[in-house]
Amino acid sequence: MQRKVLIVEDSKTSMDLMRRLITKAKLRPICTSSLVEAKHVFSSSAPEEYLCAVVDFALPDAPNGEAIDFAIESFLPTIVVTATLDESTRTKILNKNVVDYIPKENAQVYDYLTRLLNRLDKNKKIGVLVVDGSRVSRQAMTALLRRHNFITFEAADAKQAMAFLHRNSNIKLAIIDDNISGIQLISDLRKLYSKEDLGIIGISSDTTSGLSARFIKSGATDYLHTPFCHEEFFCRIMQNVERLENIETIRRVANLDYLTGLPNRRHFFTRVAANLKITPKYQSLAIIDIDHFKQVNDTFGHDCGDYTLKELAKLVADFFTDYTAARFGGEEFCVFFSNVTPEKVQDIMEKFRKAIESKTLRFEKQNLSCTVSVGVTHKSKGGINAMLRLADEHLYSAKNGGRNQVVGDDPVDGDPVEGDPVDN
Ligand code: GH3
Ligand code: MG
Ligand code: MG
Repeated sequence: MQRKVLIVEDSKTSMDLMRRLITKAKLRPICTSSLVEAKHVFSSSAPEEYLCAVVDFALPDAPNGEAIDFAIESFLPTIVVTATLDESTRTKILNKNVVDYIPKENAQVYDYLTRLLNRLDKNKKIGVLVVDGSRVSRQAMTALLRRHNFITFEAADAKQAMAFLHRNSNIKLAIIDDNISGIQLISDLRKLYSKEDLGIIGISSDTTSGLSARFIKSGATDYLHTPFCHEEFFCRIMQNVERLENIETIRRVANLDYLTGLPNRRHFFTRVAANLKITPKYQSLAIIDIDHFKQVNDTFGHDCGDYTLKELAKLVADFFTDYTAARFGGEEFCVFFSNVTPEKVQDIMEKFRKAIESKTLRFEKQNLSCTVSVGVTHKSKGGINAMLRLADEHLYSAKNGGRNQVVGDDPVDGDPVEGDPVDN
């Protein structure tokens, strides 16, 4: 369901701009131009339908922020927009439980609104752990974080903090106060969680010079001095969370094949290496190569070739969800099986070959079909590179044997399979 954003704004120009931004963010703007109208519209819907409210500070029937109070009392995360920029208005707004305020200074600030809306939505899946010996400070921080829709966790000491992190993989950020030997905890955490996986903001009321540097050198990604203003707190949180998301994007782009979205060759090796750490009893590797693929390009054009690769990649992804599959290059795919018996692997590959053979693709009103040849090995003694060589040799035999077939190890010189009954 498309989430709604309640806008309360009497300026038409500003309303038009926000309506466009909110629609672009794939949210549904509900536009009202006064407090009375907002109350009326809101009374006929459930608060859960709304992601947040964007409210003008001054409206004809609510000149002094009364519409903000209404939105907050209705449990809507509230973003304030205001044309009044004086210090007392700013303080007045920040003293209310608002998500943030946006001065109507220039077009740039509307970009900030887009960023904020995006965040409110994404934050719902992000856990933030607050580690502080003082219950009052802890609760003050988690209350602020919840205003931004974060999932919050509170720990009073290092042991509790470790336990929360261990149990909740959605925790992406930890805020750690120095009052619980924070520097020691940060350095211990870094042995378990990298900066790419967990952001850490160190906080302290201590004004000792060099403390912020000590935090960072121990592994914190940021530092905040208390008492802080809410605005700075949120800016730091937002920056740290966005840093992690950017790393995640880079990781994803680096690991996926651009055309098909399947894991690429490099990612395949990383995943296989990770899997081999558990020393599986059985390992198999299959190379799948499309038959006469050059003819698809030559006959129907390169775009059709790309389309065929994408469709086949979807089938590969669906068929081998429980295993490690990748586009290995060109029209070649690779699948690694861990702890699956050779007989079952052979059977799966044969079923896959048949599935491709019977599949008809449709490209620009033309039907086309293709077949694949598969080389598969279960001999894992020489490591993954030796397995690739063997599977490739079998693939070559499959091509020479007339294509559209699966060729595996010759059973006579196959590895003795561990765990099989031994004849004496
Ligand atoms: P065989 O049955 O022996 O495997 O024949 P083949 O034509 O499939 O094999 P060959 O290695 O001769 O040609 C592979 C072709 O795959 C050539 C190349 O242009 C095409 N190809 C590789 N990557 C892409 C791609 O990303 N998009 C498209 N459209 N074609 C690609
Ligand atoms: Mg081929
Ligand atoms: Mg090939």
